[in-house]
Amino acid sequence: MTSPVIVWFRQDLRLGDNPAWTSACAAKVPVIPVYILDDQNAGPWKMGGASRAWLHHSLTALNQSLGGKLVIRKGPAEKELLNLAREVKSSRIVWNRCYEPWRMERDTTIKDLARNEDITCESFNGSLLWEPWDVKKQDGTPYRVFTPYFRKGCLSAEPPRKPLPIPKLPDILKPSKSLTIDDLGLLPVKPRWDTGMMSYWDVGEKAAQTRCKDFLGHKLAGYKEKRNYPALDHTSKLSPHLHFGEISPNQIWDALNEHPHSRKFALDSDCFMSELAWREFSHSLLYYNRTLPEEPLNPKFRNFEWDAVQDDYMERWQKGETGFPIIDAGMKELWATGYMHNRVRMIVASFLVKDLRYHWREGENWFWDTLVDADLANNAASWQWVAGCGADAAPYFRIFNPTTQGEKFDPDQAYIRQWAPNSYKIKPMLDHKKAREAALEAFKGMK
Ligand code: FAD
Repeated sequence: MTSPVIVWFRQDLRLGDNPAWTSACAAKVPVIPVYILDDQNAGPWKMGGASRAWLHHSLTALNQSLGGKLVIRKGPAEKELLNLAREVKSSRIVWNRCYEPWRMERDTTIKDLARNEDITCESFNGSLLWEPWDVKKQDGTPYRVFTPYFRKGCLSAEPPRKPLPIPKLPDILKPSKSLTIDDLGLLPVKPRWDTGMMSYWDVGEKAAQTRCKDFLGHKLAGYKEKRNYPALDHTSKLSPHLHFGEISPNQIWDALNEHPHSRKFALDSDCFMSELAWREFSHSLLYYNRTLPEEPLNPKFRNFEWDAVQDDYMERWQKGETGFPIIDAGMKELWATGYMHNRVRMIVASFLVKDLRYHWREGENWFWDTLVDADLANNAASWQWVAGCGADAAPYFRIFNPTTQGEKFDPDQAYIRQWAPNSYKIKPMLDHKKAREAALEAFKGMK
């Protein structure tokens, strides 16, 4: 009998434009699709609660597309994957690359172990428009500043490949040993907070394609300006779909370029492309700086004491009870939907690290647990950017004023009324002007 190919699904939960899946289907041998929940190797970066709820639904959608034949395993992937290969006598495993340091380390281990058993492992690019090593400065070092990274680096590199079509469903084998998606225990038991959150979303490959089409058709026009106003809901909300790989950046890039609106609304289109490129930039930063989620990129910040003004402020920030309406609205939107508008993410993050002077890692951890789009590269790079210690970061003296930001970006308070109508009744937890001065003083002392 011909040896089957194992396709290891990870952050590429789709069948269209999936290079590993396409390659396996082209081999004309039986295919075994598998997902492995590997909390052991993830260590501190195992998925947070909101991501797990999303993953449950995303796996369900993928399993449906595979005719119910997705194999589910749980445990250290090096063990689970190689056991599966032995069980089904497979000599070829394929997957699309991920760029989290713990995954890269583990994948290298798997390749080494597999080689000893004459199993070939092949990896593909399924998640980025340009891989980190494709975009470097002329001197061969990686970019640390976004604009040249995008304008000089990305745009003069090889253009992103055209998306691959969904291959005809191959002969899929399902070995008898498989868990069910429910067995992974991704959903909370009690209370079922996930049901409210997930009611805001349609999950899976088809839903991601629909969202992309809807965005290009109705929201691309005016994106550059309107993307800053949370009440307008004028961004794509593709971030969780992109994170889980239900849609690839190539599919979005191509759909954008092929859409008549891309020429008609050229400035909006360019702005949207540059947002997609921020995602690429963050991945490049993480690839070249493996401690990005834990250590400040700027060494000056290494000994800075993030000295929280008051211990119990964290909980009020998390619950959206600060008395600053735009912040409370953002934190409540996050809690209810697993998402927060980008402008508001910047405001709440600045407030946490500058006004309240909590370490940016505390904010990063809270977002990690509560965002459906929690992404190690984007989250770490963005928190460092706001804190002022990242690459091409907002300078430390840029401290958002939550009141004027609210007035500017939510002028008729529609967003605030939607998420935190009672925030006006809460006495602001601190005097922003004084907190700002104290933060500037503290930052000045940094050597
Ligand atoms: P759109 O405006 O429609 O943008 C399209 C896509 O471009 C997004 O889906 C996203 O993949 C990418 N993108 C846009 N802005 C950024 C950015 N600043 N950095 C990286 N990629 C970007 N994004 C995440 O995907 N995961 C995170 O964990 C995350 N944490 C963040 C933490 C903080 C403190 C801040 C300030 C930003 C964070 N972001 C994160 C970036 C950004 O807020 C979200 O990507 C964006 O709000 C998603 O909404 P959208 O899909 O409607 O964006």
